[in-house]
Amino acid sequence: MSKIIKTPVGALQVPDVVTLPFIAGDGVGREITPAMQHVVDAAVSAAYGGGRRIEWMEVLAGERAFQETGSWLPEATMAAFKEYLVGIKGPLTTPVGGGIRSLNVALRQTLDLYVCQRPVRWFQGIVSPVKDPSKVDMCIFRENTEDIYAGIEWESGTPEAKKFYQFLHDEMGVAKVRFPETSSFGVKPVSREGTERLVRAACQYALDHGLPSVTLVHKGNIMKFTEGGFKKWGYELAEREFGEAIASGRLVVKDCIADAFLQNALLMPEDYSVIATLNLNGDYISDMLAAMVGGIGIAPGANINYVTGSAIFEATHGTAPAIAGKNVVNPCSLILSAVMMLEFLGWKEAAARITAALEQSFAAGRATADLARFMPGGVALTTSDFAAELVERIKK
Ligand code: NAD
Repeated sequence: MSKIIKTPVGALQVPDVVTLPFIAGDGVGREITPAMQHVVDAAVSAAYGGGRRIEWMEVLAGERAFQETGSWLPEATMAAFKEYLVGIKGPLTTPVGGGIRSLNVALRQTLDLYVCQRPVRWFQGIVSPVKDPSKVDMCIFRENTEDIYAGIEWESGTPEAKKFYQFLHDEMGVAKVRFPETSSFGVKPVSREGTERLVRAACQYALDHGLPSVTLVHKGNIMKFTEGGFKKWGYELAEREFGEAIASGRLVVKDCIADAFLQNALLMPEDYSVIATLNLNGDYISDMLAAMVGGIGIAPGANINYVTGSAIFEATHGTAPAIAGKNVVNPCSLILSAVMMLEFLGWKEAAARITAALEQSFAAGRATADLARFMPGGVALTTSDFAAELVERIKK
């Protein structure tokens, strides 16, 4: 039996030999995915002997899927993620004019992966643009299914945009669209349910990991019912479901306006721990925080539905076509995503071994070129040599 099961009490039941679907990805995905698997297999074997093992099951998406099956996102791939619950993916080329806006968005929405989780921490040895990066230790919970990313928009000049404006003007009494003839329109749905499940996951994560606070980041000062609703419903949920933890001081729930947050996070990163925010804010915040600890090559992520147990862990960067095939890409984003995945499965010992190996390598100034070039005396390793070095450290 190799499938993960979500038990009625909510826990994941993970077999010792577990099948995990993976999408290798396009471009540099074909280099970082085998590097990640090499490191993960070594860590699982070192932590559990033969007692636990991952059976990797390749599924297709992106360019390769299109070439081999004629579909960018075959039904069999979606079915595998549904059946096996937890998987991992490399970056995918966004199809141009292919009917799918983004494969990542399609995966997240179809599987209703409502949390985009992005932990941000600094490793000693990584050169950062901030004075004291050791103070950066946050985990972003970005809402994944609503907001302006729902993709409800109409292009300027189309009959749909015209009809939508007519409805706004004639039936809703909206007279303040400055240039109606040449405007495109987008709709930003934000719901109580969507907010509650996201904030619930953020608060629970903070408590489970002994973290001090959850900050609701929003633009409720301007968008009063969408972003403001997120803040209001978020506080209400926290009070209702986590009131005891708040009253006893185990958890602080606070809020911050998004623009102020971007400044404060640079000036006083130690004030923030778990961040709960809507989709667009979360997009900007993730990249800024990632830049504070080493950038895109080292920023992991996951898309999770905490109710069904479904989760896809992923490299957050793109396919990096300019460096693809050169064996220079940094595999850390995907390796750290795999660390998150092992923790999610409860295989914490294997996760800890990978983290320790990364800490040792970076402290010794050994990394791929994107990071090593900034390290005093840094040694630039190829993708495969870096993975092999991590494996050696894991085995010791
Ligand atoms: P990108 O993330 O691929 O590259 C941005 C820059 O960062 C480039 O200079 C690249 O060389 C560098 N870079 C990225 N990852 C790196 C790594 N691991 N190590 C070292 N350097 C790295 O973004 P882009 O160029 O805007 O997008 C390229 C393609 O990827 C597009 O088709 C885009 O739609 C797609 N994309 C996919 C995802 C995803 O699947 N999650 C995310 C973003 C972009």
